[in-house]
Amino acid sequence: MGIQEFRGLDGRLSHVVLSDGTTLPADVAVVGVGIRPATELADGSGPDVDNGIVTDQSLRTSDPDVFACGDVASSYNPLLGRHIRVEHWANALNGGKAAGKAMLDQRIVYDRVPYFYSDQYGSSPGTGMECSGYVEAGAYDRVVFRGDATIRSDANPEFIAFWVKDGCVLAGMNVNVWDVQDGIQSLVRAGYAGEAVDLGRLADPGVPLDVVLS
Ligand SMILES: Cc1cc2nc3c(=O)[nH]c(=O)nc-3n(C[C@H](O)[C@H](O)[C@H](O)COP(=O)(O)OP(=O)(O)OC[C@H]3O[C@@H](n4cnc5c(N)ncnc54)[C@H](O)[C@@H]3O)c2cc1C
Repeated sequence: MGIQEFRGLDGRLSHVVLSDGTTLPADVAVVGVGIRPATELADGSGPDVDNGIVTDQSLRTSDPDVFACGDVASSYNPLLGRHIRVEHWANALNGGKAAGKAMLDQRIVYDRVPYFYSDQYGSSPGTGMECSGYVEAGAYDRVVFRGDATIRSDANPEFIAFWVKDGCVLAGMNVNVWDVQDGIQSLVRAGYAGEAVDLGRLADPGVPLDVVLS
């Protein structure tokens, strides 16, 4: 069922009209766009396509003269041991440079920790977050919080959440806490290498992230 129309009252969303004419009351609309890779250039006789244009770890496609990066590329990430399509700004930025170097026959292993940032609800008093790592739904056994993630009306929460499997950190998201990405990415790299951490130290804001592993 498609959406035909958003209706509002006094500048606020009040109803959504579906394509069959059904009218539903609504307070908030979340619009999701851009989730299908535009692979037309590769479809047919071009490079292999499987949820995006498939590349190896140097961003080279099945056609040795063609490279792919950014949202459209499903690249083999040796850190994760799988192909992954990362639809985020930093991947487009870093992947472009890496593909350019690979085209010049430089040895490239594109093993970046998947990363995104997001700003929610404006800049002030909005919520900003960054997330590094990759974890499939259900592929972790616990989420460890460093800081207080309680949602309150009078203050934005400040915390880091870690997705953990068998003591190994697979992903980490900092919310309104800054300059912690290097530490989070080191923990994710160690986690994917099978290095478990002490979960008490991981949760303790008094233990700097860069010494959680030691
Ligand atoms: C609304 C929105 C909000 C976002 N917010 C964030 C965010 O907060 N944080 C974050 O990390 N990322 C965010 N992203 C994702 C980020 O913008 C993308 O990951 C990034 O722009 C991808 O860059 P790209 O160069 O791979 O692809 P694109 O920017 O999509 O560029 C691909 C280009 O190729 C062109 N093209 C496609 N097919 C053909 C063809 N056959 N022939 C010629 N040209 C073609 C397209 O027209 C387009 O110009 C957001 C994206 C959207 C849509």
